[in-house]
Amino acid sequence: MDLYSGYINKLIDELAGLPGIGSKSAQRLAFHLINLPKDKINRLVKTIVEAKENVRYCKECFTLTDSEVCPVCADAKRDHGTIMVVENTRDLAAYEKTGKYGGIYHVLHGAISPMLGIGPGDIRLKELVTRVQENVSEVIIATNSSLEGETTAMYISKLIKPTGIKVTRIASGVPVGGDLEYIDEVTLLRALEGRVEM
Ligand code: ZN
Repeated sequence: MDLYSGYINKLIDELAGLPGIGSKSAQRLAFHLINLPKDKINRLVKTIVEAKENVRYCKECFTLTDSEVCPVCADAKRDHGTIMVVENTRDLAAYEKTGKYGGIYHVLHGAISPMLGIGPGDIRLKELVTRVQENVSEVIIATNSSLEGETTAMYISKLIKPTGIKVTRIASGVPVGGDLEYIDEVTLLRALEGRVEM
C-alpha cells in the first residue's frame, strides 16, 4: 500500500539513490521539494541540466571544467613537469585551496577496488601513462589513504617507475581512510611537503 502519492514515492526512490542520502533524508528532501514554489523547482532543474550539459573533462588532466582545458592546465606559470595524481575533482580543489601547490594534476575519477569490481581500466590510468611521456620530472601520488587509494598508488608506482621518472607518495599524516577533501589545509600541506619517494 502506498502511504504517499506514487509520484512522491518515485521522487523518494530517486533521491535515496544519491550518495550519502539515506531513506529518511530522501523523504525529508522529497517533501521539502514538493513544498517549494514552482519557480524555485524550475530553477533547480535548469541548474542541474545546464551543469550536466556544459561541464566536461579537461583534455589534459581530466578534471571537471567548463572549458576544453581547465584553468590550472591553461596556466603557463604552473610547473607542467610536476603532476599530482588525485582520485577526483574534489581532491584537486582541496589542494588548490591551500594555494601552495604550483604543479599540475591528473584526475583518475576513482580508485582501483577489486571488491567493487573497479579495475585499472576503469579509471584514467592509460591517460596518465600517455601524459608522463612528455617532459615530466615528478609524479606525486595523492590518492586517499584508504585500501583502494593505497592499492592504486602501488599500481601507479609500478607503472611509472620503469620510465625513470621520480614517483613520490604524499606522507601518511593523512588519517587512514580519510577523504582528502575533509582534511584541513595544514595537514594537506604537511602531507605534500613530507612526501617520500616510492
Ligand atoms: Zn586540466
